[in-house]
Amino acid sequence: MSETPEPPAAPAGRVVLVTGGNRGIGRAIAEAFVAQGDRVAVTTRSGGAPEGALDVTCDVTDPGAVDAAFATIEAELGPVEVLVANAGITADTLLLRMSEDDWSSVIDTNLTGSFRLAKRATKGMLRLRRGRIIFISSVVGLLGSPGQANYAASKAGLVGMARSLARELGSRSITANVVAPGFVATDMTDVLSDDQKTAIRAQVPLGRYADPAEVAAAVTWLAGDGAAYVTGAVIPVDGGLGMGH
Ligand code: NDP
Repeated sequence: MSETPEPPAAPAGRVVLVTGGNRGIGRAIAEAFVAQGDRVAVTTRSGGAPEGALDVTCDVTDPGAVDAAFATIEAELGPVEVLVANAGITADTLLLRMSEDDWSSVIDTNLTGSFRLAKRATKGMLRLRRGRIIFISSVVGLLGSPGQANYAASKAGLVGMARSLARELGSRSITANVVAPGFVATDMTDVLSDDQKTAIRAQVPLGRYADPAEVAAAVTWLAGDGAAYVTGAVIPVDGGLGMGH
């Protein structure tokens, strides 16, 4: 007598997309999700996802590329349940020297890129009737920083966007939150001079830079069951630098 075959087991973990996950903070975030058994896709322009993650090429300034990346991830892993919009750039210079391109390239990558990702991710989340959207902002978005008007504006914009999405999507069990790191040891901060690094450390109550894994810990918490009732929040991971903002 032949037995009824077992239905295929549902794949374990949720589908998580981390943009900018080939290095720095994004890589640490992607590795943390892989380590907890989620199905992780990483998008970047230059490739190089951590082991265990699906490597997808996508420039977040190109709406067609964002759509194509989601189509690939949906086909390979399933609908994205957790979006971590982490890809970001700086183009620091004082206001009077800031070109239109310095301004628009940073806004287009950091803010409009996150809009494109959230909009596309929400399609699938609405069908699932659940989802977690996490934007990687910066303490600079709340404190301001000389020479970073473009960057600070892009990062502050993420707070308004997250809080609007929290209101729009809350009834469908989709949360939208912001993580605001302080100074983290990555390629982005490696370009600072030793004097600048010393001056920054002196302002941080904990007296040191963050390790990327410390930012990842806040992100995995926001994506987890324990944060189901947290939306529209800005979680600082800044060693106390931005206290009160
Ligand atoms: P890195 O410069 O180390 O990495 C940036 C990542 O973004 C890379 O993976 C890069 O990949 C990707 N990226 C940049 N532009 C694009 C684009 N147009 N399309 C797709 N991917 C892109 O940065 P960090 O890890 O330091 O920073 C990560 C995030 O955290 C950023 O949003 C940053 O603003 C924020 N942050 C960083 C802080 C720090 O101190 N380091 C502090 C506070 C916030 P590729 O070049 O291959 O495309």
